[in-house]
Amino acid sequence: MNVNATKDEVDNVLAHVRDRGFKPIELPGADRLAIGVLGSNPASIRDAIVDLPGVADAVPVSKPYKQVTREWQPRQTVVDVGGVRIGDGSFTVIAGPCAVEGLEQMTSTARAVARAGAAILRGGAFKPRTSPYAFRGLGADGLDHLDAARSATGLPVVTEVLTPGDVETVAQRADMLQVGTRNAQNFALLEAVGAATRPVLLKRGLSNTVEEWLLAAEYVVSHGNPGVVLCERGIRTFETATRNTLDLAAVPLVKSLSHLPVVVDPSHATGHRHLVPAMSLAALAAGADGLLVEVHPDPENAMSDGPQSLTFEMFDDLMARLRRLAESLDRRLATAPSQEKAANRG
Ligand code: PEP
Ligand code: MN
Repeated sequence: MNVNATKDEVDNVLAHVRDRGFKPIELPGADRLAIGVLGSNPASIRDAIVDLPGVADAVPVSKPYKQVTREWQPRQTVVDVGGVRIGDGSFTVIAGPCAVEGLEQMTSTARAVARAGAAILRGGAFKPRTSPYAFRGLGADGLDHLDAARSATGLPVVTEVLTPGDVETVAQRADMLQVGTRNAQNFALLEAVGAATRPVLLKRGLSNTVEEWLLAAEYVVSHGNPGVVLCERGIRTFETATRNTLDLAAVPLVKSLSHLPVVVDPSHATGHRHLVPAMSLAALAAGADGLLVEVHPDPENAMSDGPQSLTFEMFDDLMARLRRLAESLDRRLATAPSQEKAANRG
């Protein structure tokens, strides 16, 4: 719409769109309103509305993922996770163990990562494992331990959902729902998290192109949940020296294509803890909105992903280095609401 389009002019366009059987979506921008129309015949709708009063232009969206493109919404999406804002220009560090293994392991890790400056806590209660004989998580008990760790530190919590049936239970307990790489094209699950009221951390499928990844995000957004954070966690290539191949160029690429925040998981991307700090710093330098890092009190004895998990000491050191790099890039590390309160108290 024109910058100074009136409410009547907007309503008139909305009515014309609805009369033709399409669903209009109002998209407020910094200085003007756009109206998105989802349908398969852009020419017919264009002809119907382009000359109406107040209309500036009618532009077909060229990408197959309609609502997650910057063509549809130029404004950056900021996702609120229990009071922590991802995508607002700050750098959000999400940290914790691969799997919730017990109360003590979870609370000690939560305290350590909170002290070091992480803003959100991670930990899998329901674990997708390649082998059916591997540790598959503590399930509901794991959610209890995450609750306890949240209470102990004030950090919001992200945890994985494996099936559509998990979504409601997990959404009642967690601040953010993670969809793992193996489920990145489980369309029933994407629809279920799309209907949830919690934000979603959507991993890139291990063999997904950027387009497939954004179409997965489109499933979630088009089912009613605009709070999607994309996570680059490495893709499968011929290279076996690292667990996966971190596609760091995807960060600025996806940020240019989409308004959704993008974070990097250097743990699953590399598979080796000694590679994690360098790739974390590189993610910040590449313009990512944050990190998802695995940290464990005793990586040698972790029940999953020990070789890629940082010790508390390594994580402390990484956070200090991230802070210095962020400063030189005119960015800051995001803090959890509880940490802000603590800082304000002096
Ligand atoms: C995880 O975050 O622990 C995990 C299972 O990740 P991914 O789905 O990326 O393998
Ligand atoms: Mn893991």
